[in-house]
Amino acid sequence: MQDQSDQTRALWVDGVSVFTPARTFDSVNPATGEVNWQVAFATAEHVAAAVASAKRAVNDPAWRKMLPHVRAGILMRIADAMTARADEFARLQMLENGKVWSECRAQALSAASTFRFYASACETLGSEVTPSRGNYLSMTAYEPYGVVAAITPWNSPLTMEAQKVAPALAAGNAVILKPSEVTPSGALLLAQVAFEAGLPKGLLNVVTGDGRETGTALVEHPDVRMVSFTGGTATGRSIAGIAAQRLIPVALELGGKSPHIIFEDANIDAAINGVVDGIFEGSGQSCVAGSRLFVQRSIYDKAVGLLVERARALRVGLPDVAGSQLGPLAGFAHRDRVERFVSIAREEGGQILAGGRRPPEAALQAGAFFEPTVIGGLSNSATAVQQEIFGPVLCVLPFGDEDDLIAQANDSAFGLASGIWTANYQRAWRVARALETGLVWINTYKQLSIATPFGGFKDSGIGREKGVNGVRLYQQSKGIYWSMDEKNFPSDGALA
Ligand code: NDP
Repeated sequence: MQDQSDQTRALWVDGVSVFTPARTFDSVNPATGEVNWQVAFATAEHVAAAVASAKRAVNDPAWRKMLPHVRAGILMRIADAMTARADEFARLQMLENGKVWSECRAQALSAASTFRFYASACETLGSEVTPSRGNYLSMTAYEPYGVVAAITPWNSPLTMEAQKVAPALAAGNAVILKPSEVTPSGALLLAQVAFEAGLPKGLLNVVTGDGRETGTALVEHPDVRMVSFTGGTATGRSIAGIAAQRLIPVALELGGKSPHIIFEDANIDAAINGVVDGIFEGSGQSCVAGSRLFVQRSIYDKAVGLLVERARALRVGLPDVAGSQLGPLAGFAHRDRVERFVSIAREEGGQILAGGRRPPEAALQAGAFFEPTVIGGLSNSATAVQQEIFGPVLCVLPFGDEDDLIAQANDSAFGLASGIWTANYQRAWRVARALETGLVWINTYKQLSIATPFGGFKDSGIGREKGVNGVRLYQQSKGIYWSMDEKNFPSDGALA
């Protein structure tokens, strides 16, 4: 390995780490504003070399003909190595996106377990024999696409990178991973760990750079046969446009503005816990954050009072200090953007019920911190209610009856997730079916399992990641007909 020190991070092409001092970018700690290290910038030439390497590797009989249980063994060893080095992964994420230590560590372990899950899927998912309409055997077999581009965001890079790389490898592809320029280091460590665990070189290349140059070069490369993307809706739309021209499939996990709903018969304490976690964990930088809270009018004042009390009591602090519940936002420009949304909410008549400002503590002045914020008094059409803020900002709105609730909750361009709190199981079922979201939580929020498919309706995305069938996202099906009878043609031999 070349030139990898505490101050620099090299990208991975063809199993070799590459650092070009002439072209780098800074990784910045959002809790302190200090530069963590310099990271190699992948140009279009690096991307081309990475794709060429991936193409060679995916066509190499050593990988193409590797039996599924052997491939699973490599994924399992990656999972073990990630578990053993979970603290290292967690520290990199904490220094780059500012999430608190406990969350970073939980995400590092979750990423490892994703590799374990897809190792199991790899050796158990099979081809299918389908019902035939004659004397032949008909089957569906599954083939990898070849070279897959995986593009990931900065909010939960460890879990999202595992969520793409593990099933794509299990499916038999080679992967080019482009992490966000905000959080490049976990992806680089993942490649190193994977090679040490026996993954043949070229099957995972990591190109660190920005979206505009590195990301575009990757999506446009003619040998990239599939793109799996998580990030903003605008970026997803532009990637889908390129993919449409190239006629390659895309999987898009995009933004959200998830409605979180409390009915008057709910267990109010449990509901408020769920709402607080659902929006403020990770400082609200989560695609499934429950950022629009609808409370039934009869309990509105009580619920909002409890919520405001809880929001004000949350501890904003340095991510490595025990007891900190919210770290900084992932970057300074992003914090400014969140702040602008709060100003717009004020201009549109919103009342700031909690937070709404940078914390005053001296120890936090150098970082991109923002207080947990609750805004009332806005209509469902207000900017802060309709647009994804991706920060610790919750808008609360009252509703009358179930019809009013469903009309308001579905009045959104997004459709990623929703949450319902009620003691009435029939209502829970009715509302869950009526909500236009890819995920519904009932009397819980943000509980996630790798075994359950994940993805959005409407502008929140296309395709479903996770679940055993997450492997199929990275495969194309092939129908195979195999005659059991010399004369078994559809024309019944009339043309013979
Ligand atoms: P982006 O969509 O800008 O970035 C996501 C990834 O795409 C990053 O790796 C980025 O690279 C890359 N990228 C950016 N532009 C292109 C392009 N033209 N071609 C190829 N790749 C590209 O999201 P942000 O990180 O800036 O976050 C903005 C918004 O995205 C958030 O406010 C939120 O709405 C949403 N988001 C959704 C997430 C989810 O889980 N669904 C997660 C994170 C964000 P780089 O960062 O290096 O520029």
